[in-house]
Amino acid sequence: MSISKETDVGTRIYGLAKEIFPICRSITGEGVLQTYNIINRYIKDSGYQLSIMNVNSGEDVFDWQIPKEWRINEAFIEDENHNHIVDFKENNLHLMGYSAPVDRWLSLDEMKQYIYTEPSQPDVIPYVTSYYKERYGFCMSQNQLNNLPDDKYHLFIDSKLFYGKLTYAEVFIPGDTDNEIFFSTYTCHPSMGNDNCSGICLQAEMINYVASLSYRRYSYRFIFIPETIGSITYISRNLAHMKEYIFAGFNLSCVGDDNDYSIIHSIHGNTISDKVLSNVLKYKTKHTEYPYIKRASDERQYNAPGVELPIVGFCRSKYDEFPEYHTSADNLDFISKEGFDGSFEALSDCVDILEKNLYYKLTVICEPQLGKRGLYPTVSHKGTYDDVQAILDTVAFADGKRDLIDISNEIGVPAADLIPIVEKLREHHLLEGNVNAGV
Ligand code: ZN
Repeated sequence: MSISKETDVGTRIYGLAKEIFPICRSITGEGVLQTYNIINRYIKDSGYQLSIMNVNSGEDVFDWQIPKEWRINEAFIEDENHNHIVDFKENNLHLMGYSAPVDRWLSLDEMKQYIYTEPSQPDVIPYVTSYYKERYGFCMSQNQLNNLPDDKYHLFIDSKLFYGKLTYAEVFIPGDTDNEIFFSTYTCHPSMGNDNCSGICLQAEMINYVASLSYRRYSYRFIFIPETIGSITYISRNLAHMKEYIFAGFNLSCVGDDNDYSIIHSIHGNTISDKVLSNVLKYKTKHTEYPYIKRASDERQYNAPGVELPIVGFCRSKYDEFPEYHTSADNLDFISKEGFDGSFEALSDCVDILEKNLYYKLTVICEPQLGKRGLYPTVSHKGTYDDVQAILDTVAFADGKRDLIDISNEIGVPAADLIPIVEKLREHHLLEGNVNAGV
């Protein structure tokens, strides 16, 4: 077990989330770079830093085009007495993401066409963007809108949309083989906790974790991108490499709450990523398996026809399934240290299992005598069997045709818990581990 699996890992990840939460991120712009700088500081001791990549506005990426860059300085609505009704400085969700500049006075009725609310949740500010059509708008709670007097209002947005660049970042950590375990998360959402401060922060901690491993069979790649346009851009630049080398992969989204655990399966549902994450999650108190039809994050691009990579989605409560989703209620109170503890454990278990997921074969015929190797209690009586049952069950299914996860699924013990058992059995030369089945 590595040094990173210590008790305060959740506290540390939550601390990072608190730090990046106030930053106004979008699919381009200054907020993304500020976030990358903070991540670089967080992963400093890993010995790795983010490589920053730029793509120019206007460049074609498959069927899409890199949008203009968005710069936002100031945005507010004020009444005739110059009281700020809403201010971007107070909560960046008040401004529709990618709003064009505006400076005009309107009546309450005229203003309403530029105001977005969530009538079904009258207390929250909704999260609204308009990336691909130039418009402007503000967001507020339905209750606030209902209480505005019939006055004149000044809509003011000091923003700029210009031919600049889209920025993404990646970290590559080499291992013994070129086959990669791939992690992706998105950095385009402003101040919301679960969606997706949490994914950014968990992925940063995973860099620290993977870097701390004394041995890596696999290489690891971590990418931080704006959702949709970022994954499309990344795939358009790297598809051949990805298809050759990605062995398993996870898209991280909404991983900071402490409610459900969720997997969004790959399109075929049968890759090693589906297999390992399902194995880990099925032992959690609560978990949900979503078929690919329920996809909505970057797993859409990673599994698209012609791409079809072995990449699944990992969430705690799945995006779009919790009432706080895409509102101001998805805040720092909605995510927690405990939530991050659980997500980190699940994801680091996936890494540990994949690293050890060989086809294990018993080296002796019939059951080995565990007692003479100190692996079996020498006084056997009722009750002591439970302690060794997992060892006996492991060797019983170690036929060289089953990998670690298959054995786990046969015997009903989490694959992560079998790792110390197979290590012990290998120390005693009772098991051999092969990369291929049936050797
Ligand atoms: Zn979202």
